[in-house]
Amino acid sequence: MKLPPLLDSIANPVLVALVAVLLLLQWRFPLRHQHFTLLRRLVRNYVLSIPGFVIVRMAMLPIPFAVALWAQHQHIGLLNWLGLHGWIASIAGFVLLDYCYWWWHWANHMFPFFWRFHNVHHTDLDMDVTTAARFHFGEMFFSIGFLSLVLVVFGIVPLTFIVFFIVLEAAVCFHHSNWRLPIDIERILNWVIVTPRMHGIHHSIVQRETNSNWGTIFCWWDKLHRTLRRDIPQDAITIGVAAYRDERELTLGKLLKLPFGKQREWRLPDGDIPDRSPQGANTLAE
Ligand SMILES: [Zn+2]
Repeated sequence: MKLPPLLDSIANPVLVALVAVLLLLQWRFPLRHQHFTLLRRLVRNYVLSIPGFVIVRMAMLPIPFAVALWAQHQHIGLLNWLGLHGWIASIAGFVLLDYCYWWWHWANHMFPFFWRFHNVHHTDLDMDVTTAARFHFGEMFFSIGFLSLVLVVFGIVPLTFIVFFIVLEAAVCFHHSNWRLPIDIERILNWVIVTPRMHGIHHSIVQRETNSNWGTIFCWWDKLHRTLRRDIPQDAITIGVAAYRDERELTLGKLLKLPFGKQREWRLPDGDIPDRSPQGANTLAE
């Protein structure tokens, strides 16, 4: 299946430039204290992401795109049945896709089978723009089924899917970045979109904090489901997964194999369960 040229000729160079700009911004204005050197993490996260990128380009985009084209021709799916056309159908499809991604992210945490793969992303001991690439290829593979299902059920226009995916990639790079935005600006952005401080809480070693802020582009879904957390200051967050704290266990080979072995309970190596009571504040903490 041939994808629209928009992806390779425009979006990919723009995304590469965005990563470069975010690398620069997070180096100049860091948000959280980092424990490891950028070069080491950059190499590990990007090499780990290569099989995932291949799956995305060869299957995770073309297969759901073909499914969406088929649904469009067969006049299948909610938006087709409602008779929505043009911009209205595209905007509705875009928003629906982001909401479905909220559920997909939720499922990746809640179902132990999916968590095996998503765990690899969360084991990063620092979080920055390179974490946005740190996904196990298994997670990308299962996304093919999820996306195909969503595109058919809701009858989402194929081009909307591609545009959504490009925006999603940009959003993922942005909210994983370690860029300290001025707090007032980030609070305003966080009325609408997921921001670095909001997503930082999702990468905390405290499980109840990880089990919050599942949004990807818009932050409304977490508000809707009462899973929005904004009350943890970034310097109080330890990034990672409680049971995987040793850098020597998180090498490339071990990360690729991680989903296929026994998964550890959410406990620190000394047996403690990290916890902290919610403050309940509704404003994004510094
Ligand atoms: Zn997650």
